[in-house]
Amino acid sequence: MDIVSHGLWGGVAFGRKSRKDYLLAFLFGIMPDMFSFGILFTTNLLGITVGPKYSNGRPDFASIPEYVSQLYDVTHSLVVFALVFAIVWYWRKKPFWPLAAWGLHILVDIPTHSLEFFATPFLWPFSNYRFDGINWGNPWIFFPNVALLVVAYSAWLIARLKKRKGK
Ligand SMILES: [Zn+2]
Repeated sequence: MDIVSHGLWGGVAFGRKSRKDYLLAFLFGIMPDMFSFGILFTTNLLGITVGPKYSNGRPDFASIPEYVSQLYDVTHSLVVFALVFAIVWYWRKKPFWPLAAWGLHILVDIPTHSLEFFATPFLWPFSNYRFDGINWGNPWIFFPNVALLVVAYSAWLIARLKKRKGK
């Protein structure tokens, strides 16, 4: 899924308690892509690196540096996520819910990436199995996603307004 949707889904799913929680859930929602493609994007922006090259509207896989896919493995693994979530849970003695937006990012990515481009390595490092989904740029994914986001945020807003009225 695109990075903005990841942030918005993370926020609405796990950041409804407070403004701080929302911001954290949003950030954990975009983190897996920030710590892989985001680095390349930033170094490109700063003029340190060039590329990747584009062909057919998609970045050319061969021109993407190796470290991006290595970081992608780590940040898009449910195994790594579960481990970190469990450690934080143990350390705080209660779950830290905004962090769950990271896990949601991976779950959303599994069906919205095809084998053609960065399919989700969710079982890394135990297995290299990747699900062949439909790329999120496909209109059948993209527009229903926007519609679902509108529904989720409207429902949240209505619930908040009702709560305020009730007080
Ligand atoms: Zn991702």
